[in-house]
Parts: sequence; C-alpha cells; structure tokens
Amino acid sequence: MGIVIKDILAVLPENGSDVVKETSIYIEGEKITGIGIQPDGFQEDKVIEGKDRLVIPGFINAHTHSYMTTFRNVADDLSFMDWLFGTIDPLEGKLVPEDAYWGAKLAIMEMMRCGTTTFSDMQMHIHQTTRAVKETGMRAVIGRGLVGGMDGDKVNEAGMSRLNEAYEEMEDGKDCSRLNFRLAPHAPYTCDPGYLKYLAQEAKKKELGIHIHLSESVSECEGTAKDYGCTPIEYAEKAGVFDVPCVAAHCVQVDDKDIEILARHGVSVVTNPASNMKLGNGFAPIQKMMDAGVNVCLGTDGAASNNSLNMFHELSLLTLVHKGTGKTPQCISAKEGFRIATINGAKALGLEAEIGSIEVGKKADLAILNLNTPSMTPRNNLIAGLCYSANGSEVETVLINGQITMENRKILTFDEEEVYREIGKICTRLELDKKTY
Ligand SMILES: [Zn+2]
Repeated sequence: MGIVIKDILAVLPENGSDVVKETSIYIEGEKITGIGIQPDGFQEDKVIEGKDRLVIPGFINAHTHSYMTTFRNVADDLSFMDWLFGTIDPLEGKLVPEDAYWGAKLAIMEMMRCGTTTFSDMQMHIHQTTRAVKETGMRAVIGRGLVGGMDGDKVNEAGMSRLNEAYEEMEDGKDCSRLNFRLAPHAPYTCDPGYLKYLAQEAKKKELGIHIHLSESVSECEGTAKDYGCTPIEYAEKAGVFDVPCVAAHCVQVDDKDIEILARHGVSVVTNPASNMKLGNGFAPIQKMMDAGVNVCLGTDGAASNNSLNMFHELSLLTLVHKGTGKTPQCISAKEGFRIATINGAKALGLEAEIGSIEVGKKADLAILNLNTPSMTPRNNLIAGLCYSANGSEVETVLINGQITMENRKILTFDEEEVYREIGKICTRLELDKKTY
C-alpha cells in the first residue's frame, strides 16, 4: 500500500537539529520511501492532504507503566514511599491480568491521541501489554518488572519465577515486529545486589538491554548509603547493570560522580518531570547530564504518578521547569526538548535506525497536527509551538509502522467505547469509583 502525505509542513532532521520544511512524504509498507521525491514505481493508494497541517516523528515515551491507568487520580498528594507502599502496591495486588490488558489499552489510546507512537513499559502481568500492543498497532519496548533477592547463593523463587515470566513473554512477542523486549529490574531497593548482578549477567548472555528505576527519591539514596555505603548509581554499576545497554528512569538525586559513571557507560537517562514533581522528588539535573554527554530522553511514568500520559504536557514541563528552577531561560531550548522527546528516546531504546525522525528508510511512525487551531496560530515558530503552546488535541492523524491507526481523530484499530466500558467495570470491582468525583 502506498500512502502520500501531500504538501505538508514537516519537522525534518538537519545537521544534528531539526528544521520545518514543506514537502511530501511517501510511504510504502512499513517505511518512508521518499521525502520530496516520489520513489520509482510508487503506487498511490491513499492521499493525506497536508494543507494547514504539520507532520512530526511520533513521540517516544521512554518510561511508563501502561497498565496503571486504572489508578489514575487515586493516590495523590502523598510522599513517594506512602504513595508506593501505602496505596499503589496494595491496589496492584488486587489486579487480575485482564485488568492490566484494559489498562494498557487505555494507555495506548491516550498516547496515540496525543501523538506518541512508541512507549517503553515496565509491567507485572505478562502477555497483557503485548496483547494490547499487537491489537492496537502501537509500538513498544516491554519489560516484566523484576523484584527478587538471593537465597544463599541462589536466586530466590520469587526472583526466578518473574525472570522466567519475562522470558515467556519474549517468546510470545516474537511474531510482532512492533514489539521489543528488555530485562526490567525494578530498582535497587527491590533487587538485592546478588539478584541484580544475576540479571545483569543474564542480560549480557541473552544480548538484552536493561530498563531500571534509579535514584528517584532521597529515601532511596539514604537506603543504599546506609545498607551498602554507595549511591544507587554506584550500586547498579557494581552489579554490572551498565555493562549492557541501559535505560535508567529518573536519576533525580545524582551527584557529579554519578553523572560521570552514567556518561562513561553510555547509560541513557529518562527524565519524568511531572512524576518527579508530583511525588516531591525534585528535578533531574539534565542539563548537567547532557553537558557530560549523557543521552537524555523523556517519559511520563505511569498514570498513577503523573497523572497523564500526554507527551505534549511532559515536553512543556521539560522545557520550562529547568529554566525556572535554575533561573536559566537559555537551557533546554524548544529544539533540544523536541529531540529529547523523539530521536533521543529512539537512541535510548536502540531503535534510532528505525524510528525517532522523519527520514527515508525509517519506519513511518508519524503524527499529523492540525495547525488551524488556536494553540498553533500564528505559525511564527512551529517547534516552539510544539513545546510551549500545543496540548495534544491538535493531533489529528497517526501512522505507526506505515499503518494509519488514527484518522481525523478517530482511532481505526480498536473500539474506544469498549475500553471505557471495561475500565469502568474494573474501577467498580476495585471500589475506586466511590462517586466522590
Ligand atoms: Zn516508573
């Protein structure tokens, strides 16, 4: 099938940055096969008119927990440890796998509607996010959250069964090119040194990347200092976590030595400004990290701690909070922010040859925005508009892997009403909808 997006303004990479140009984009099968020049033998099956529209590479949400949408707005204004162990953990215990499937589907709906085309997920019910991804046409990198420890010199039963689940899920996802997998040790405070070391060795042996939470809160850092005499970053380094491609979520509480370690090992850091602010954890020093050569990308974290999966909202925070907290309006420019939300995420996930920018040969993962909207008018600087003015409602049409998954704001790949109905049933069963509103 040949799709042409005709005469459209497009955000295109140029010399390590991005520019906006008017062009036409040709798509055959899963890939972009021409920009500005129609490829030989192109068969035009579908035309998307580009007048008054802007096409961008789909956002890459590099850290989330998609199944947690069910817990949106149920545990707010709490400290990190009260939020996690006092409210969210007990609720998670009540979820059945089918709930995680509908939660992931709701997350995908929210992300797709706001121009996200890839997400990196840490979850605890295998086969559920994968099933939702397969059905919706979304792209994802999935990791079964791993929590465990050692029993003598052996990994304990809980740790081993979760790892085996992770491998079982990888088998299940082998037939879908939009699915990739990582090992996902949850955090230093839920994986003891022996278990984390074992997982790092497994990742190396199986050539898998790692997705982990690191240095998110002050209490986490106090814990590793007290128990092991080091920072969470040093703890992970010692365990060998950075000997494989590693995506570390948060890295809020880091010192100069930590940043040097992250840079030396080529660790990618996912910053999650909304979640870090909401849980009172602070701000990751991302300008310092970028100056040290760390690849920084962007994530929303789960809907229980954000409480939105809208990357426009996150991009706005990313490009604003550091200016405010550091009294440095020059830092994290709109152009830098946009790359953090797109190509840097692709690099973090090892997918930069396939996604993250609009280029010939890459997968057609695209979001088309209507520019005849108040937030994008006038068109003085469209990349600034994406960071500081847009809110996601401008996204009209989305393509993932060359497939049109949303057209004129209607999702084509699944039934949205069914998702609302099923989420409603889950919340009633879990007694979350206490009609307090
Ligand atoms: Zn997280």
